[in-house]
Amino acid sequence: MDDAALWVYLDDEGGRQADLPLRLIAEGQRLAQATGWRCCGIVRHPAVAARLQAGGRGFELDGLFALGADPECPDAAIAVVAERLAACVAAAPDLRVLVLPGTTVGADLAARVAARLGRPLLSQCVDLEWSGQRLIGRRAVCSGRAHQMVSPTVDPPWVVTLDPQVLEAPAAPAPHARVATLATGADAAPMTAVARVWRIPAAELGVLDAQVVLSVGRGVAADALAQVHELAALLHAAVGGSREAVFGGLVQRERQVGASGKWIAPRVYVALGISGSTYHLMGIREARHVVAINTDPTAPIMARAEVGIVADVATLVPALVQAARPAAVTEI
Ligand SMILES: Cc1cc2nc3c(=O)[nH]c(=O)nc-3n(C[C@H](O)[C@H](O)[C@H](O)COP(=O)(O)OP(=O)(O)OC[C@H]3O[C@@H](n4cnc5c(N)ncnc54)[C@H](O)[C@@H]3O)c2cc1C
Repeated sequence: MDDAALWVYLDDEGGRQADLPLRLIAEGQRLAQATGWRCCGIVRHPAVAARLQAGGRGFELDGLFALGADPECPDAAIAVVAERLAACVAAAPDLRVLVLPGTTVGADLAARVAARLGRPLLSQCVDLEWSGQRLIGRRAVCSGRAHQMVSPTVDPPWVVTLDPQVLEAPAAPAPHARVATLATGADAAPMTAVARVWRIPAAELGVLDAQVVLSVGRGVAADALAQVHELAALLHAAVGGSREAVFGGLVQRERQVGASGKWIAPRVYVALGISGSTYHLMGIREARHVVAINTDPTAPIMARAEVGIVADVATLVPALVQAARPAAVTEI
C-alpha cells in the first residue's frame, strides 16, 4: 500500500440521512481494497463524526477529518462548505479520489469543488472500477436502459459522485470504530466570516435555494396566482410549478420541479393543485416535509405528503394568507 488515499465525504444531513455515510464508507472500502489506497472519511463538522460513532453501527476508516470548527449548521451555505472542502483537497497531495453521495446536496458540492479546482467530475456513477491503473465509472444513461463508462483523462485527484440508490449497506457492521484522526482543519480559523446578512426577497428566491417551496399545478387558476405569491412572500418561500404549470404560463421554465426540471431538497414543499405524477415526485424525492393541497383525496401526491389537505386552492390559499399576515395591532 502506498500513501495514496481516497476520501469519502460523509454527510448525514443533520441526522436526516443517518445510513448514507455508512453505505458510502462500504463503497469507499471496496475501492480501497481494489486500489491499495487508504480509505479516509471527511465530514463537514466534528458533530457529524460524533453522530456516526454514537450510531452504534461501527465503521472502519484509515482516517477521519473534519472541515471546520464553526457551530454545526446542517444547512450551512453550500458555497462555504465547498470552499473548505476544495481547500482541503488542494492541500492533500496523496489524495486520488474524493467520493461524494449523489444526493442533491452532495452533487452540488461535488460540482463546486471540481469546478473550483479544475478537476474532472464523474457524476452519478452506479459503479466504480479500478482497472489497468484507471478509474472507470459506470453510469446509467437513456433512463437506465444503457450504461456509459467514463474515465478521467488527467492525473488525480478526481471527484466522483455515487448514485445513492445503488449504495448498499455494509454486510456486517464493523465491530468498532477505528478512527485515526479527527481534527484536520477542525481547529483552523474559519476561512470565511459573515460580513453582512441580508434577505433575498422571496420573489427572487430560486427553487433550489429556498427552504420552503410553494409549487403550483394545473389545479391553480391564473387569478389565484397573486395570492400564492403573497403567501410565498409571507413565508419567505420560492414559487415553483409542475410541467403543466409551466405549459400553462403560471411559472417560468426555470422554476419547473421534477424529472425534466429542478431536483430540489427544501425543508418544506407545498404542492398546490398538483396531482403528483412520477415525473414530478422525482424532483421532490429529497424534500424533507411535503404538504399537498388538492381537491382529490386520491391524487398520488397525497401518498407522498405528510400533510394532505383536501381543499380548493382558490379558497384555502386566501385563508392561509390571512393567517400568515402579521396580526394588526389596534391601539385603544
Ligand atoms: C418526459 C417527461 C418529463 C416530464 N417532466 C416533468 C417534470 O419535470 N415536472 C412535472 O411536474 N411534470 C413532468 N412531466 C409531466 C407529468 O407527467 C404530469 O403531466 C404533470 O406533472 C402534471 O402536472 P399537474 O400535477 O400540475 O397537473 P394534473 O396532473 O392535471 O393535476 C392537477 C391536479 O390539481 C387538482 N386540482 C384541480 N383543481 C383544483 C383546485 N381548485 N384546488 C386544488 N386542487 C385542484 C386535481 O385534482 C389534480 O390532482 C413530464 C412528462 C414527461 C413525459
